[in-house]
Amino acid sequence: MDAAEGWYDVTRLTDRSYRITEAEAYGAFLIEGTERSVLVDAGIGVGDLPDVVSGLVGTPVTLVLSHTHWDHIGAAAGFEDVRVSPAELPADGRVAIDSLSEEFTERPAQFTERWLDAGNDFPDGVDHDEYAIEPADATALPADGSIDLGDRTLEVVPLPGHSPGHVGLLDPATATLYGGDVVHREYGLYIHFEDCDLDAYVESLRRLRELRDEAAFETLATSHNEPLSGGDLSLIDDLLAGLEEIRAGKRTPEPVDTDWGPAHSYWVGDSEVLTTTDI
Ligand SMILES: [Zn+2]
Repeated sequence: MDAAEGWYDVTRLTDRSYRITEAEAYGAFLIEGTERSVLVDAGIGVGDLPDVVSGLVGTPVTLVLSHTHWDHIGAAAGFEDVRVSPAELPADGRVAIDSLSEEFTERPAQFTERWLDAGNDFPDGVDHDEYAIEPADATALPADGSIDLGDRTLEVVPLPGHSPGHVGLLDPATATLYGGDVVHREYGLYIHFEDCDLDAYVESLRRLRELRDEAAFETLATSHNEPLSGGDLSLIDDLLAGLEEIRAGKRTPEPVDTDWGPAHSYWVGDSEVLTTTDI
């Protein structure tokens, strides 16, 4: 299998946007404009994402990182224009796997072991022993929160909580919100890392609900599951209600061990919510 089309799974989301999935679980999104295109997130960086992207769009590409967790910055070093929230831009401008914390440095090796143990291969020409996430030079997202693609403009929507500078990108032209890790069905909510903030997360879900109720978006495209639309968007209400109960101490946590250490687990409908143990 080659490291570009062979490794990534590309599906069309709208007539001018694509969902690009790496290793079945790590999603990026490409939005094509007449003057500029935007790639939201860069997966885990095993394959050759720049090659896939240049095969899909003809305009210069800005990579917007929804946040700087390892599974969103993987191939970022292969792009020239990388943007991130000022809250997650390191002082030296180099976004790396340990920029936010050391918690993620073992994840590529853990991924490799599980992926190979499950009987999967790496792409041709990629040595799994050499796989690592390269640091990427980045700059801050535009201060006015808008990114002009020529025929349309994307709006940056701050949605912190999962990480300090977590953002979504709203495309009013297609009523799509690219939401990073803000909600997930299959993967639940991860609020158990050092830099997570439950209060900020509650506010972000309120903002998400407000945008949905204003019909600012009809499709919510997040990183680790199929895009949500229609009745499935009630997931936002369920998760918001669950987080408010957790925050108010109305739910009893189950202590669990995760790849990142001890956490508290709660179930909100079908979604697992993991928090730090001090909540
Ligand atoms: Zn994340």
